[in-house]
Amino acid sequence: MRYVDEYRDADVCRRYAAAITARATRAWRIMEVCGGQTHSIVRFGIDALLPPGLELLHGPGCPVCVTPLEMIDRALAIAAKPGVIFCSFGDMLRVPGTRSDLFCAKSEGADVRIVYSPLDALEIARQNQGREVVFFGVGFETTAPANAMAVREARRRGICNFSMLVSHVLVPPALSAILSSPRCRVDAFLAAGHVCTVMGMDEYRPIAARHRTPIVVTGFEPADLLQGIHMCVVQLEEGRAEVENQYARSARPEGNREAMRVVAEVFRVVPRKWRGIGDIPESGLGLRPEYAQHDAEALFNVGTISTEEPSVCISGLVLQGIEKPSACPAFGTRCTPETPLGATMVSSEGACAAYYRYRRTGS
Ligand code: SF4
Repeated sequence: MRYVDEYRDADVCRRYAAAITARATRAWRIMEVCGGQTHSIVRFGIDALLPPGLELLHGPGCPVCVTPLEMIDRALAIAAKPGVIFCSFGDMLRVPGTRSDLFCAKSEGADVRIVYSPLDALEIARQNQGREVVFFGVGFETTAPANAMAVREARRRGICNFSMLVSHVLVPPALSAILSSPRCRVDAFLAAGHVCTVMGMDEYRPIAARHRTPIVVTGFEPADLLQGIHMCVVQLEEGRAEVENQYARSARPEGNREAMRVVAEVFRVVPRKWRGIGDIPESGLGLRPEYAQHDAEALFNVGTISTEEPSVCISGLVLQGIEKPSACPAFGTRCTPETPLGATMVSSEGACAAYYRYRRTGS
């Protein structure tokens, strides 16, 4: 299959791995930002091809994993209200809140529906004028344009019973937060190619320069990842800290201007709490005041929500590259994909789920 086979070619991958081994003169730690990249690394055993001392750290780029517990509890509270149709992508339904998840809410009678696009939810709202339809708008820069379009379309067509529970997060502020932490272990980043396809690369340049940290925009297939790692190693060995683009077949430095324009029209930058990590300033998107009539958080007063993470779960440390899933005593015992205690075990892009699926050892 074009655009897949050539990026999974074993000889190409072996050549990149040999080039990395030949170039690396010391231990380096490179964080892949995106959960999709983590999944590929673990699935294809990319880390096993690297020389000793070159460590891959798994980053916070799984939107399901970083959606805060409060937001899951808020979604549950809204879904439980009479007359509400709560729509979501399927992977959010099993994310555990403090006491339940959306699947359980559905089994207990709440009208929770899986959709494949926010526009599907908008159509449900059009067909159910007597009911309130809420879409759970989560994700990074990648999903924000479609969500923004759905809200804009709702206003344009006067579909007043459609609203969005927004929990969008932004990647660059998270990278800054990780690099500013006294526990930071990151020497270089593999940035997520699809995010840069939307937002471009300009926001990364001051981060790379300020923290003296190379950032290589990278794809998701094995050859992409190995080439991105090689580009990081070359920069590190040469003492450079620049933004480079391995994913040029999709990502352009300027990004997708039309997508960014729609996002800026509907959303504004807000502070956001990241599950397991905490509050990061200016790291999220919320609806602009002029779209308040479609803001589910404002429309549904669900009161104060107090949350409690399972004390055993160290997913926050996993998401910052400080620990691997193996450090968690619950991995593979109390916590499995069937009985997840934390978000990194729920999502297929979560590091704990990837280790469980492909290694079962957590390390
Ligand atoms: S294995 Fe489960 S409990 Fe442990 S860090 Fe991962 S999600 Fe949390």
